[in-house]
Parts: sequence; structure tokens; C-alpha cells
Amino acid sequence: MSAPDYDPKQVSLLDAAQLTAARDAGLAAFSAATSLDLLALARTAHLGGSAHVALANREIGVLPPAAKGDAGKRVNEVRKALDLAFEERKAVLEGERDARVLVEERVDVSLVPGAVLQGARHPLTTIQERIADVFVAMGWEVAEGPEVEHEWFNFDALNMPADHPAREMQDTLWLAPEGSQVVLRTQTSPVQIRSLLARGLPCYVVAPGRVFRNDALDATHSPVFGQVEGLCVDEGITMAHLRGTLEAYAAAMFGTHLASRLRPSYFPFTEPSAELDITCFACLGVGECRVCSSEGWIEVGGCGMVNPAVLVACGVDPERYSGFAFGMGLDRTLMFRHGITDIRDLYEGDQRFTRAFGTEA
Ligand SMILES: [Zn+2]
Repeated sequence: MSAPDYDPKQVSLLDAAQLTAARDAGLAAFSAATSLDLLALARTAHLGGSAHVALANREIGVLPPAAKGDAGKRVNEVRKALDLAFEERKAVLEGERDARVLVEERVDVSLVPGAVLQGARHPLTTIQERIADVFVAMGWEVAEGPEVEHEWFNFDALNMPADHPAREMQDTLWLAPEGSQVVLRTQTSPVQIRSLLARGLPCYVVAPGRVFRNDALDATHSPVFGQVEGLCVDEGITMAHLRGTLEAYAAAMFGTHLASRLRPSYFPFTEPSAELDITCFACLGVGECRVCSSEGWIEVGGCGMVNPAVLVACGVDPERYSGFAFGMGLDRTLMFRHGITDIRDLYEGDQRFTRAFGTEA
């Protein structure tokens, strides 16, 4: 074989000793890889685009034709040996991985399962139903109305026209666009109006539901809370009926041993209006008590004789019919009945709170 007529420096990559060394380094790296990730790294280093064998292959092109065959054969042999070693090592590592996964992901069908907690209804739902039950037992009906309400039902028909100062007592959430006259109801009282218009007379309805105010959430305020509203309109209804009905309610909810009293108050939709108090069930009126702030009394809700203007708005003749109405906060009732001090507990959905109420029906 004649002496090479090309610069051997340029093609030292094709030198047999160097190729052998590159092959041995690759074989050693593959067999040393202990995981598929490490093997992939070794493959890039020894068979990738920048690996010795790839660079050497590229150099073949610059050789004189006579030298190409010999050099190509050497490079191919090295690459074949590396490919084979890589595939073999990969098969071994994949086998190990599959065996390990089978062990790690084994399901022990003999294990005793953990306790699955039974779901329960929220205490606000159960107290709402309990209150409604008291009135249903007296022959009343349960009524419902929409939470998105027209201002006529929420205000005007309840003797609160647009310029009435009582409107400002409630921080109302109005629905867009401005001037839509649509609100998130601030009270359950619009259900009274709907009941009078839809059911006719005599009318005995109790209406529990959610109401909305533009209040920030803190320990005693929530932008959404529950109310229950009652309305009775019939011939010959007097304040004595109001008092008797609410005393029967208080006895059913809090016990017959508690006294009740009516305190004068003001609501636009009732005249006269009153607040209903019952003796504090915790201290029995003695005072020195957290539940009633040592007042001896607990405020249960507002009530009064239906304002004749409300009856007229619903097409009822106030000369012939009269009635009474009352409203109570569900959250407030639940809170003092169970000694809950933070209203946020009712709305955060924390099972550690609600679970204490069990699954009472
Ligand atoms: Zn008390």
C-alpha cells in the first residue's frame, strides 16, 4: 500500500487505535449505566451527533477514494458494536424496571379499608327545615321565591318606595346594568308579596331562604345569610294571634320553660312593629352570661301587623283582612342555639365544624 497523500492530522479520528478506544469507552459507559436515564445520557455521549464515531464518519468524505472503503468499514464496525451493546443494556434495564414496578405497585387486597365518612346535610339546612316543620304542624305552607328579585317585590310593594329612608338601612347588591331595577334580594319578605298575589286568601306561609347584603365577611357579618319569613293574612287577625304563634314557635325551638316578650320596633312593612325576645336559655335570665351578653334576653327576630299599604299593593282589602308577619335570621338562630361565635364557620365548608352536628334529620 502506497504512503497516504493526505494530512494524517485531519483524520486522526479515523485512526484505528482511537476508534478502538472510543468503542471501549462507549461499551464501558453502557454497562456502567444503572438506570434507563443514565443509559440515555451515555448513548448521547457515545452514539450522538457529537460522539467520536459520528465525527469520524463525517471525516470519511475527505479521504482519497482508495482509503474510503477501509476507513468506512472500521467506523461501521465500531458503531455496530456500540449499537448492540446499547440495545442489550437497555433490554436488561427495562426488565429490571418492569419487575420493580410490579412489586412497588402491588395492591394488597387483604388490607382493611379506611373508614369512609357518611355525608350529612349542612346545619343551616336542618335548622331551616326544623323551623318550617314547626309552622307546617300549625297548618302553614312553605313558600319559596327567587333570589334574584325585581325591586318592586323587594322594596316598593313592602312600603319602601325609591325615596324611603329604610332602603338605606340595607346595603343592597344591585345587578348590572345600572338602572336594571333587579337586586339580589335583601330579605325574604318579597316572598310574602308573591304569596299574597299567587295564593290568594287566607294566606299562611313560611318562607325560608338565602338573602344578600353588601357586607364584608367578618365574625358577625356575611354577604349571604339565611332568613325565614312568615306571613298570615286572614279575617279578624290581631296582635294576639301574632304573639301566640311566635310563643308556640319559641317553645318548639327553645323549650316551654322560657318566657317571651315583644319590644316596640320599626319596619316599613309592619305597623305596629316589634322585636321578639325570649329568656336566655343559657342563664335563664339571670345574666352574667356570654350567650345573651348578660342581658337575660335573646332577640329572636322582628315582627308586626302587616302594614295596610302592603295589603293594598297586593290587591287585598285592608278593611276586611288583616295579618301579621315575622322574620328571623337562620344563621343567628343556629348560632345562639348552638353557641357558635363566628358566622364564617357556617360558610367555610370545613367538615371539622359541620361533622359535630352529625347526621340529624
Ligand atoms: Zn344569658
